[in-house]
Amino acid sequence: MSSAPARAELVVDLDAIAANTAALRERVDRPLMAVVKADAYGHGLVPSARAALAGGADALGVAVVEEALALRAAGVTAPLLAWLNAPGEDYVAALTADVEVSANAVWGVEEVVAAARTTGRTARLHLKVDTGLSRGGATPDEWPALVAAAAGAQADGAVEVVGLWSHLAYADAPTHPTIGRQKAVFEEAVTVARDAGLRDARRHLANSAATVALPETWYDLVRPGIAIYGLDPLGGDPAAYGLRPAMTVEARVMLTKRVPAGVGVSYGHTYSPSTETTLAVVPVGYADGIPRAASNRAPVLAGGAQRPIAGRVCMDQFVLDVGDAPVRAGDRVVLWGPGTDGEPTAQQWADAADTIHYELVARIGGRFTRRHVGTAGTV
Ligand SMILES: *Cc1c(COP(=O)(O)O)cnc(C)c1O
Repeated sequence: MSSAPARAELVVDLDAIAANTAALRERVDRPLMAVVKADAYGHGLVPSARAALAGGADALGVAVVEEALALRAAGVTAPLLAWLNAPGEDYVAALTADVEVSANAVWGVEEVVAAARTTGRTARLHLKVDTGLSRGGATPDEWPALVAAAAGAQADGAVEVVGLWSHLAYADAPTHPTIGRQKAVFEEAVTVARDAGLRDARRHLANSAATVALPETWYDLVRPGIAIYGLDPLGGDPAAYGLRPAMTVEARVMLTKRVPAGVGVSYGHTYSPSTETTLAVVPVGYADGIPRAASNRAPVLAGGAQRPIAGRVCMDQFVLDVGDAPVRAGDRVVLWGPGTDGEPTAQQWADAADTIHYELVARIGGRFTRRHVGTAGTV
């Protein structure tokens, strides 16, 4: 292994993921499904899942079956739900690996039943109702037929309905009137399902924002994602909920140079220093998940201070104006991290780039290497 410091690195603190999970688990005092979809929001699927389990997660949630199979292939045996199921999904593989799945429609139940017959296994099935997000789930009009199909399959032993669930549109605005409306639709759907004999299924509705802010949505299980990684779903200070950001994004300066006042910096010369200054070139760009919208806006810790990116973010690099600070090639700069050591936070970057921290952490990658620190889930 080379001992040279990495050019550009994502440092992920597994102990923070475990501690965040433990804090949320204690807050809700009921089962918690840690959401590890999309490579654990950019934090690394398997190590992050193990850390969340070490922190007390009762189950794991992913979007697609492939993610679930990757966890099983790595030896993760915890209860596991893959909810984003399209026509032709490989339910045989899912059931064989003991992965729970979800249905939005009668045809989905039929596909799951077919796989149950093929494998001789009973599928552990969640039914999703669309309570107002207008994304996944059966509409309230479609719900009785979905419930009837699932109840029939349960009577035949092909499935066991273990979950009734939905997703909120406005959990990050905890006083929004849609929350009460979605809850009412959800509870009516649960009544319909229970009247059809689906009495043992757990009800789940709460994402991270609802897990921290809306106890009335917790029901039998919560499904936090972003909060597991220590980011505040409401855009505030995660420490308010005992959460600590797990990801630090850093790079080594590739080159510095002294330039006179008035030079044009990066494509289109959208930045010009007003005095003689030092420019530091950082070898990451939009191909690595640095948003181009961060140009001239997002802050980077370099030479002891936060400095906005100077000029446009390019495909492979961007530039900082570090003034007269003694920054040299090879020095470490920090794009975002917990914010406790002078570095910017992912929330600051999100504000600067007109996006949400979810998108930043989920898309960062490219030629960054990832290094896990901490021990949670590693032994
Ligand atoms: C991604 C996702 C979650 C987790 O959302 P966070 O806001 O990250 O907590 C929960 N449920 C569903 C259906 C999701 O797609």
